[in-house]
Amino acid sequence: MTTAALTMLPNAPDPHAGVLEISDYQGNLRLDCEVLVVGSGPGGAIVAKELAEAGRDVVLLEEGPPLGKADFVQEAGESMQRTLREGGTRAARGNPITPTMQAIALGGGSLINSAICARPPAWIFDKWQRRTGIEGITREVLDPHFDRVEACLGVAPTPVEVQGERNHRFKLGCEALGMSCEPTWRNVQNCRGSAECFTGCRNGAKKSTDVTYVAAAIRAGARVYTSVRVERVLASGRRVTGIRGRIVEPFTWTPRGKVRVDAKLVVLAAGCVGTPLILLKSGIANSSGWVGRDLRFHPGLAVMAMFPEPIEPWKGATQGYHSVDYLKEGLKFEVLWSPPSVLATRLPGCGHAYQEHLLRYDHMAPFDVICAADDSSGSVRLRRGSHHPDLRWDFAQTDFEIMQKGLGILSDICWAAGAEAILPGLNGIPEVLRSQDEAELIRTRPLEPKDTITASNHAFCTTRMAKDPADGVVDEHGRCHDVDNLFIADTGIFAASSGVNPMLLCMALADRIALGIADRW
Ligand SMILES: Cc1cc2nc3c(=O)[nH]c(=O)nc-3n(C[C@H](O)[C@H](O)[C@H](O)COP(=O)(O)OP(=O)(O)OC[C@H]3O[C@@H](n4cnc5c(N)ncnc54)[C@H](O)[C@@H]3O)c2cc1C
Ligand code: SF4
Repeated sequence: MTTAALTMLPNAPDPHAGVLEISDYQGNLRLDCEVLVVGSGPGGAIVAKELAEAGRDVVLLEEGPPLGKADFVQEAGESMQRTLREGGTRAARGNPITPTMQAIALGGGSLINSAICARPPAWIFDKWQRRTGIEGITREVLDPHFDRVEACLGVAPTPVEVQGERNHRFKLGCEALGMSCEPTWRNVQNCRGSAECFTGCRNGAKKSTDVTYVAAAIRAGARVYTSVRVERVLASGRRVTGIRGRIVEPFTWTPRGKVRVDAKLVVLAAGCVGTPLILLKSGIANSSGWVGRDLRFHPGLAVMAMFPEPIEPWKGATQGYHSVDYLKEGLKFEVLWSPPSVLATRLPGCGHAYQEHLLRYDHMAPFDVICAADDSSGSVRLRRGSHHPDLRWDFAQTDFEIMQKGLGILSDICWAAGAEAILPGLNGIPEVLRSQDEAELIRTRPLEPKDTITASNHAFCTTRMAKDPADGVVDEHGRCHDVDNLFIADTGIFAASSGVNPMLLCMALADRIALGIADRW
């Protein structure tokens, strides 16, 4: 491992310099390369940079376009149409319908996420070992990779100056209950606490992979083609030979010219939904039957705290504080923020009552709980006649009981933070709870998953890592058990939940996979 990479990747004057866009293509694209990487999110961008810097001839293909500061719009509906698959309406069917968002843009999820970088504790990997026999992935093994990624991205705790009152209230609440809590560590530089992470950082503060790792990959000689959808991996026996795909128009996603790339080695990092779709369409790497089979989420639920005084919740880092005090029980608590129109869909009532809630917008703060949900799973399947997936996921009752406990703790945090009322958003419970006693209903009322507005943007395990080729799709080095020169480097390879937010773990694994390829191939 080189130490040269342990410096923060610079912010280039034009961070997308050298990125090829649809306007650069004429007709069809025909390319060849040594290493082909599919997807420019947290997983793929790292692999492209590290292998380009190791002297490999790298091509990176990304379906979405590059989007910079000037392209981001604050209006949520328009932003989601531009940056998210299915315009942000994607959902898994099951006992709750679970909305889940996947980005379509250079930088993948890192462009529109809250930039939280969290290292999972060591015991998470014991769980991985128990599930799929993976022994080589431990916190000790991954720590040097966490170090490298954090250094490249300038990961640091959210400073108090950009916390704002919303994050501060969460801290007060946790401390009053004797719960540990801490500022989130994030990959940002000069954050102004504008709470706009979800629609893209117009301040250029977020160190998403498009402006960091992809830019560094290009400096090292990688060729980066955006607006290219990979449809199939081409294989002959135990070897892949390249891919076939289409050029797609940004935002309408209309297919244009054809794409064919020949490659000696392929790394799929199209995300935990995108990668199984490519594999299923291609009919490869699935002798185990595990491709797309073990979709896991961190289901999340929010409670809205209403404060007697205005707290101007739109000020402050999007998710500046969190508590991992109950992580061993499968629960993580966070502050949340999203654009007003998204929050408005979460407010109860109609007519005048609804308007009353909207008018108190400056008094509210959403806090959320996410759950490891180790007993719950689902699947990614091909949807006939569509390039979108058929997603299924069921919330197991055992996990839901843990979640209900988490909701009770979340409610306690709200009251301890000084809330005068909370909006629990749970079917069968009054829309507004005005005292902590009344809020005990959250703990005592028998609830089912379908009584909640569960959502999840943390998804993994659809091409899971396993020791035995019969139990999973890749080995601990990200290599497909069935195919000698095909690797996967996105969250799909997790063997179980990451417990904490998954991006940093995905990046550490991708870093390890890339260095492994550079060493052995
Ligand atoms: C709103 C939101 C907030 C989040 N906040 C956080 C957070 O604060 N911290 C955290 O740790 N995690 C967060 N996450 C989750 C995190 O962003 C993801 O876990 C992470 O981005 C996954 O990285 P990945 O490389 O596996 O996939 P992705 O980020 O999904 O990247 C996959 C890339 O592949 C491209 N692609 C897909 N299919 C194809 C194809 N067929 N051809 C070519 N390209 C393709 C996609 O367009 C995308 O750019 C958040 C997610 C969302 C949606
Ligand atoms: S809080 Fe605002 S300034 Fe900070 S990273 Fe997010 S969008 Fe950028």
